[in-house]
Amino acid sequence: MQSCYDVVIVGGGMVGGALACALGNTSLKVAVIETQLPAAFDVTQDHDLRVSALSIASENILKSVGSWQGIIDRRSCPYRRMKVWEASEEHAATLFDSVKLKYDHLGHIVENRVIQLALIDQMKALDNVDLITPAKTHKIDYSPGFSIVELDDGRQLVARLLVAADGGDSRVRQAVGIGVQKWDYEQHALVASVITEDAQQDITWQQFTPTGPLAFLPLSGHRASLVWYNTPSEVKRLMRTTDEEFLAELTHRFPATLGNIESLLGRGSFPLRRQHAQQYAKEGVVLVGDAAHMIHPLAGQGVNIGLLDAAALAQTLMTALEEGEDISSMAVLSHYEKHRRRHNFIMMQAMDLFYRVFSNDLLPLKLLRNVGLGVAGKASPLKNKVMAFAMGLEGDLPEIAK
Ligand SMILES: Cc1cc2nc3c(=O)[nH]c(=O)nc-3n(C[C@H](O)[C@H](O)[C@H](O)COP(=O)(O)OP(=O)(O)OC[C@H]3O[C@@H](n4cnc5c(N)ncnc54)[C@H](O)[C@@H]3O)c2cc1C
Repeated sequence: MQSCYDVVIVGGGMVGGALACALGNTSLKVAVIETQLPAAFDVTQDHDLRVSALSIASENILKSVGSWQGIIDRRSCPYRRMKVWEASEEHAATLFDSVKLKYDHLGHIVENRVIQLALIDQMKALDNVDLITPAKTHKIDYSPGFSIVELDDGRQLVARLLVAADGGDSRVRQAVGIGVQKWDYEQHALVASVITEDAQQDITWQQFTPTGPLAFLPLSGHRASLVWYNTPSEVKRLMRTTDEEFLAELTHRFPATLGNIESLLGRGSFPLRRQHAQQYAKEGVVLVGDAAHMIHPLAGQGVNIGLLDAAALAQTLMTALEEGEDISSMAVLSHYEKHRRRHNFIMMQAMDLFYRVFSNDLLPLKLLRNVGLGVAGKASPLKNKVMAFAMGLEGDLPEIAK
């Protein structure tokens, strides 16, 4: 059985879901294929390990597509301040405070599942969006303006425009023959979910050490997500320790600012790689989110730039509709590609610079770090720029992100 759609989005994660919602109530017939629905949310559940720091721009996008309230109603933690410092130099820490920019907060920490569930609620409410789940792509026959996606159960979807929102290992990207440039960072991220004795829910902080940053992300209640970036072998060793040994390591290695950890709720590790698609679009197909780019998460930007992709692509397609253009043509898709690829490339370069400058012990780089943090902390226009960057409000933004 074949069903025809204007847009078929493979991947109903945070980015694919946001794109579908942004295309809601348009004349486009949209399908979203998602392998599996996330488990239902219950406020008595422990926090998930996978959380994201959402910028103000992401909040604006999620508000505009009607999903923000679903996030707030479930669980989230706004933070007002952000602090960064070099190991053992907390006295010289650089503090960013939203009050200085006349904002209530700098961002929110939200569980990825909560974001996805809020988007799914919205997708289900939209007449022009069909959420097809659980379903997996079995075969993708790419043909410009007429691609056929065959699902595991034999159903076939015909797409005028095929969207790859299926993450870093995107099958769509591979099926249409778009290559990537990639390399592994010599770092893994160990994420631990903990309960702390102190309430410190209005701040997120990051301490730079020669082996990689240590980060604190507040969750609701006294809960927090700790991120420990280190060499792959050290992260593997830490993952093999017992809970008791691991808690002792956290207490020993994390700065005193953290205070006592009352209990460990869970931990997991993630290898980190940088990956960038050689092109974001071909006639009849387009890439968004991690399918297009994967960056170092130390500044928490991956999903934020993915949501900007979704917003920019939706804006491009809606403009094309208004002007009677073909949404699957390169003439249209190249607007999106040109705008987002450049922006994301700059973000990737900035993350790589942070990674290299902040994850080693060479004296010249240590001096550079101290000068950099000192300047960012004191000079007001630059400080405001850094804050605007962290809030996602820097650069040429799609309308719904402003
Ligand atoms: C440790 C860590 C911390 C991070 N912290 C942050 C942060 O604080 N802030 C931030 O902005 N980013 C952060 N990121 C990055 C962020 O998690 C990713 O950028 C984000 O998940 C990308 O979203 P996505 O929707 O593009 O892809 P994914 O989250 O990978 O979603 C892809 C979706 O596609 C579905 N799918 C895959 N294949 C198929 C198929 N064949 N058929 C149907 N469906 C399919 C999957 O089930 C999934 O739902 C972090 C990353 C890591 C590793």
